Amino acid sequence: MSKRRDIWDASLNAKVQLREWVARKGLFFDEKLWTKILLADTRNSTFETPFHADHPIASVRVLKCGRAEQHKEHRYGSNRPQLWWVFFGRSWVPLPLQCFLIGHRNGWVLFDTGIDPAILSDSRYIEQAIGRFLLPRIFHLYVSESDRIDQVLDKAGVAASDIRMAVVSHLHFDHVGGIAQVPQADLLVSAREWAILSDPHPEREWILRQHIEIPSAKWRQITFEPTDDPIFEGFEGIHDLAGDGSMILLPTPGHTAGSMSMLIRRHGWDPILLVGDLTYEANLLEQDIVPGTGEGETLLASFAKVRRLKQRLPGLTIVASHDFAADERISQATGRTPASGES
Ligand SMILES: [Zn+2]
Repeated sequence: MSKRRDIWDASLNAKVQLREWVARKGLFFDEKLWTKILLADTRNSTFETPFHADHPIASVRVLKCGRAEQHKEHRYGSNRPQLWWVFFGRSWVPLPLQCFLIGHRNGWVLFDTGIDPAILSDSRYIEQAIGRFLLPRIFHLYVSESDRIDQVLDKAGVAASDIRMAVVSHLHFDHVGGIAQVPQADLLVSAREWAILSDPHPEREWILRQHIEIPSAKWRQITFEPTDDPIFEGFEGIHDLAGDGSMILLPTPGHTAGSMSMLIRRHGWDPILLVGDLTYEANLLEQDIVPGTGEGETLLASFAKVRRLKQRLPGLTIVASHDFAADERISQATGRTPASGES
C-alpha cells in the first residue's frame, strides 16, 4: 500500500511539474491524456479514489487583512440606482477584508492576497482623480501596515516567500493588493477576468492596472476545461489546481465578468466553496439576494449553479470573502475550533 502510494505521489508530482512546464511555454496541456499516461497504473482498486488515498489538504485558514465599511445598499442590494446610494446612502455596515491560506502537500496556496495599505498612505495609489473622489464614498477603509499580506502571513507563522501559488478570485484592489509581497508565487487568474484589463477603463470597475501589471508578478491565465464529472454539471468547465481533485476552480461570474470560486475537498471534511465576492454573505446567496453591485442576471445564474452544486455535494460550506462568519463556517466544515478573536 505504501509503495503504491509512493508511486502515486511520484506520478502526481510528475504531472504537476509537466503541467507547469507546459504553462510556462504557453502550450496547451491535455489534462485527460496526461492523467491517463502518468496516473493510470496507480489508479486501481487498491485505492478507494485518489482523493481518499492521500489527504493533500492539511489546513484552510482565514487571514484577516483589515476591515472596512460599505453602504447597506451595496451589501444587501437596493432598488435604487448605484449612484443614488453612493451619494445619499446614510447606512454604513461593517465588512471584514479577508483572504484564505490553504496548506497543500505541494506548498502553501493563497486564495486572494488582501489589500495594500498604501491605498490609504499614498495619495497617488489611485491614479484617476474620479477614483480618488469616489473611493471614500463607496468604502470607509480601516487598514494599517500590519494588514499587508506579508505581515498577516508572518503573524500566522508562514513566510510570504513560502507561498507557492495565489489564486486570484477577481482583480479588485482589495483582492490583489498583496501580489508584490509574493513575487515567487504563480498568480492564477481566469482568462476572462484578465481580458477586462484590455477594456478602455478597467479602473472604473476598481481594477487598477498599475497595481496588477507589475514587473514582479507571475500572472498565469487559466481557462476552464470541460468535464464529464456530473458534480460540476452546469458549470462551463473546471480547473483542477493540483491535479488531485482537492482544489477545483470554477467560473462564477457576476461580481466581475471573470470571477471564480475554489472548491476544497478533503476526506472527513465538509466540502468548502470559497466564492470570493460572488456574495457578501452565504445566506444571501441561498436566498437569491443580489448585492448592489455587479451584473444582476449573471449573479443569479451563478447563485443557481452554486446551489445545484450544493445539492450534489451535501454539506457544501459556502464561504464569502467579506463574510464575518467565514472563520466559523470553515471551522465547522473542518471540525476545528474557530480562530475568531485571535486577530
Ligand atoms: Zn470585489
